[in-house]
This record gives sequence, structure tokens and C-alpha cells, in this order.
Amino acid sequence: MNYKSHDEIVNFSRSNPTEFWAKEAEDVFWYKKPSIILDDSVKNYYKWFVDGKTNLCYNALDRHALGSKRGTAALIWESPETGNSRVFTYYELYKKVNQFAGVLKNLGVVKGDRIIIYMPLVPEAVIAMLACVRIGAIHSVVFAGFSEDSLSDRINDATPKLLLTADACSRNGKIIKLKGIVDNSIDKSINKPDHVIVLNRKLDPDLPWNEGRDIDWNELLKTKGEHYVEPEIMNSTDVSYILYTSGTTGKPKGILRDTGGYLVGLNASMKYIYDLQPDRDVIFSTSDIGWIVGHSYIVYAPLIIGIPTIMFEGTPIYPDEGIWWRIMEKYGVTLLWTAPTALRILKKYPSEIVKERDLTSLKYVFLAGEPLDIPTYDWIKDILKDCTIIDHFWQTESGWPMISNMPGVEQLKIKPGSPTKSVIGYDFLVVDEDGNEMPPGEKGILVAKPPLPPGTIGSLGIYKNPERYNQYWNTMPGNLFNTYDYAILDEDKYFWILGRADEVIKIAAHRLGTRELEEAVSSHPAVAETTCVGVDDAIKGTVVITFVVLKQGYESSETIKEEIKQKVATMVGVFAVPKAVEIVNLLPKTRSGKIMRRVLKGIYEDKEIGDLSTIEDGASIEEVTEAIKLMKLELKK
Ligand code: AMP
Repeated sequence: MNYKSHDEIVNFSRSNPTEFWAKEAEDVFWYKKPSIILDDSVKNYYKWFVDGKTNLCYNALDRHALGSKRGTAALIWESPETGNSRVFTYYELYKKVNQFAGVLKNLGVVKGDRIIIYMPLVPEAVIAMLACVRIGAIHSVVFAGFSEDSLSDRINDATPKLLLTADACSRNGKIIKLKGIVDNSIDKSINKPDHVIVLNRKLDPDLPWNEGRDIDWNELLKTKGEHYVEPEIMNSTDVSYILYTSGTTGKPKGILRDTGGYLVGLNASMKYIYDLQPDRDVIFSTSDIGWIVGHSYIVYAPLIIGIPTIMFEGTPIYPDEGIWWRIMEKYGVTLLWTAPTALRILKKYPSEIVKERDLTSLKYVFLAGEPLDIPTYDWIKDILKDCTIIDHFWQTESGWPMISNMPGVEQLKIKPGSPTKSVIGYDFLVVDEDGNEMPPGEKGILVAKPPLPPGTIGSLGIYKNPERYNQYWNTMPGNLFNTYDYAILDEDKYFWILGRADEVIKIAAHRLGTRELEEAVSSHPAVAETTCVGVDDAIKGTVVITFVVLKQGYESSETIKEEIKQKVATMVGVFAVPKAVEIVNLLPKTRSGKIMRRVLKGIYEDKEIGDLSTIEDGASIEEVTEAIKLMKLELKK
């Protein structure tokens, strides 16, 4: 069917979900084609293509490697951190994955076994993920920045048969040893893996070794690798992986991903949302394989549609702030997928660094993970004039976008700061706490009407925790999936995401999303980055405090601080003016770019600040602690 408009395809996918998704399922390979498209007989669960049989790895590799894409680039690895760069063709990747699937099989791994992958952004990590799904093992990639306690929590929950790791990784030129963290976390865990497979990158000369348990990766390839391993014929509803949510708050949850639904959902997203096509496009997703974006848009989706995907080990400013733009020029990247936080980092540097590169191939920059502020949108749009900048919204839970422009069907008008409208398969609403729809322009909770489309948490829920899964549906009447985000729906049916419901600031009976305040602050020309937090106040209950990183060339001054307060007064209201504004060099952020507001709140209120292992740069804690001390002194005056 040839869909002509965004609304047409979305409405059709909602009014005829089985017809719509049955058609989409024809694009991928099935050992047995599904005849039952949707089974929603169990409350809150939406299982797709239930009697279909397929394999994710076969779809990502075999059909291309043994077909027309044998010699085409599949995985491009760029590691400025270690000075390495490598291109794997579909055939090469297919061979490597078969070899490693042989290793897993010969170590006794069978369908349904869990394997934890705690690795840096190296090709072996992708090979391992694909080898797992080839044989039906369930991978759980744990971001290699997590602390030993966080890793241990995940080991205890996932009870893996094997844990795969590397000696070390490098970040901004600094070696970070991983194996010691793995050893300590296994010591702390109740359920210990049988073996730890270690990729020795020769980055750690003192690599600790546990005889009998640890096995060298390359040794295993020689002794247990195979040329070909038959892909496991998987049920569509079998688990492909567990991914624990990054969590700026609370304990991690193991989101379960199905097989057939994910395959079809990703394939459709590439066509309609990302406008990507085989034999034409190259994607560069700057995420990490430890996050959902890395799973879906570094690894699975690009390979499923047979295009080259770039995996990058490093940061946007190492060895210098031109590195991403050089990589995009080198490979003719057509779609950059990144987070607003990365652009805000790059925004601090002169735009000539970007302008001097030939980026004519670049058609789209897709952004997600946090609200895209207008100054950042304007900055990137001004530099990449011919490129479309698209903000889109989704969650680990969804596996692929939930609210977005869909240029593969029709490019709707861009309203900077809004991720646009519900995409195929979704019908989002903004409601109050009783589930009643809010009038346009009024703030409420963002919820989705059932069914959830293929490939989301809606199929299998949360690993070993159905009660926790039900909490997504139980918070209000009406059987609505709660995203736990605050949002506004405007007159044109565009959504505006205001931040996590648990980060909402309540001042004088007004509920404020952190975003409204932060946008007001960042409209000041000196501001590169900011965050606003609501903290306890003896008199007012809650007050706002604001932290600001200035652009290069600006100096901290009382005038700037006053001007910032003035911006909030005019753009939000006098009631919301921050009690204090402090200038810092760094903000505490997770590696996926989310500002850790709970840390700022905790420090200010002298409370427990909890797990800090996902923090991007530990130095930010000292920075903000100092700033808070100063703030408190100033407030006492
Ligand atoms: P995660 O599951 O770690 O990917 O985080 C999902 C959360 O990130 C969402 O619930 C939102 O709070 C936030 N988020 C993702 N995309 C956007 C966006 N485009 N605009 C605003 N917030 C976003």
C-alpha cells in the first residue's frame, strides 16, 4: 500500500492493526510465516505474529551475506581511542558470527540461556550479540560504564551462563580497566556465571586472571569456533534479549524483547520513520551498545535492512572536536543519530569545525533521549542547512520510536522542540491522573492506548517481574500505557515532552516540567547548557535552583545570573524564578546524556545520592558540590 500522509498511515495502522502489521511482516524472512498476527488474550500483553518462526541473525546477516550484499560494508568500526578503524563486509561479519556462535554452542550454551555482555564498543561485542540470537541465547548487554554493584545486580537478576568482557576500554585517551570490575561484581553475586570470556585488547598489562573460570576469547575461537552454525528456528514470541533500563531514578528493570515483533517493528521504522534504504544509505548512531539505541540502531535495524552501520568507540571531542564530522565525511553518512547533549557539547566549539567538512551526503540528524532545546536546534540547523533535524521520542521500553516525524512517508512541518506526532502503531494521549484527556495546550501525563505495536515491552513485559510490568498499566483508569513523562498536545496535535513525571517540580501549586524552566534559562545567549532542580525549602516547600554551563568566551558574573533569572520571570513566571543560579563547568550526566537531577537534589538536601556508576564524568560531582556550597553561602547573606 502506498501511504500518502503521516496521518493516513498512522490512522490505518491503528484502525486495522492486524492488516497493517501482517503486510509489514512480509518484508522480512520467516521460516514459517505467521497466520495469527495479534494475540491480546492476556490482559496488558500484546503478542505479535505468535505462530511465526524466524531468526534475527538470519535476517541481519545470512540473507545479505549469501545474497547480493556479500562484499558490501556491514559494520564499520572507528576507534579513535585506540587508533583503529575497520570495515567488515556482510560476508566477513557473517563468518565471524558463525565462528563465535560455534564457541558458544561448544561451551554448552543452548536456547534460552542468558549471556551478559559487558564490553566496550568493539566489533566483538556486536559479533557476540548476533551469535547469541543466532543460537537462541538471550543476551543482556550491560553498559560497560556501570559499577561493580550495578553489574552484580544484573548478574543476580539475569543469572547468566557466561559473561563476556574485555580487559579494558579507553575514554578520552584514558584506559579504564573492566576485568577487575567484572571479578569484583562476580564475587558479590549470588548466581555466578560458569565462565568469563575475556577479549584481551592488550590495554591492561596487569590483566587479572581467574584460572579455570576465565577463558581467552581468541584462544576459544581457535579451539571451539566453527565455520557454520545453523540458526535456531525461533518462535516470534521467544525472548531475543533483556535490556535493563538506564534509570535516572530507581532500580533497573529487565525489559524483555521478543523476536518476530522486534524484527518487523525495526524494519518498518527504517522505512517510514528514518527514510533509510538499502544500496543508498549509511547510518552513524553515536550511542553505546549498552543502551536501547545501540541495540536497535547501531546493530539490528541497519543490518536487517542491509546498510552499513558505523560503530564509534570514543567521545565527540577525542582526539578533537572535529572527529564525528570527519567520520561522516569519510563514509558519506546519510543519517546521524545522536543525543542533544552531544550537540550541546559540540556547540561550545567554533562552527567552522563542522563547516569545513563536506557533509553534503548528510540528509538527516535524528535526536532523542531528552528534550531538544531550541538554541541547540537552531545551532545545528544553521550549520547543516540542507539537512533535516528531527527530534523524536522513545524509550527502552518501546525499542523503536513512539513519537516522531516520518519523512519516509511525509515530512511534516518541523516545530523545533517538539518530536511531532504518534508514529505507526501508536495512539498517544495527554491525560490527567484520572485518565481524562487534557485540553490542547495543557500539561498532563503522556500515555498510549493499547495495543502496543510489535517489538515493544508490550509483548513480554519485564523479566521475572510481571507485577512491575503491570504498573505501566495500573496507574490510572482506562487501561492506558503510562510513559511516566509529562507532555502537552498542541492545537496541531504535536506533542511537547516536558520531562519525567518523577522530575516534575511543584511550586506554589504549579506543576512545572524541568524543560520549561531549562528552555527559559538556555534562551540567554551566554548559556551552553543548563539544568533546573526543585529542592526542599523550609518556607516555600519547593524552590528552583539552576546550574549553568557557559559558552566559550563568556565569564561568570552577577549580571549574567540576574539576566537568567529575568528570562525565567518573563518566559515562565515570577513564581518560578530560581532561588539561585550557579555557574559550573560540568553537569552530572549519565553516559546516555540524561542529566542526573536526583544527584543535584541529593547534594543540595544533604541526602543519600545513590548509585553514581552511570555518570559521564565523576569530576562533575565535585564541581556541583562546590557550586552548591557557594550557593548556600550566597543564600545565607
Ligand atoms: P531511555 O529508556 O533511557 O531511553 O529513556 C527514555 C526517556 O528519555 C523518556 O521517557 C523521556 O523522558 C526521555 N526522552 C527520550 N526521547 C526524548 C525526546 N525526544 N524529548 C524529550 N525527552 C525524551
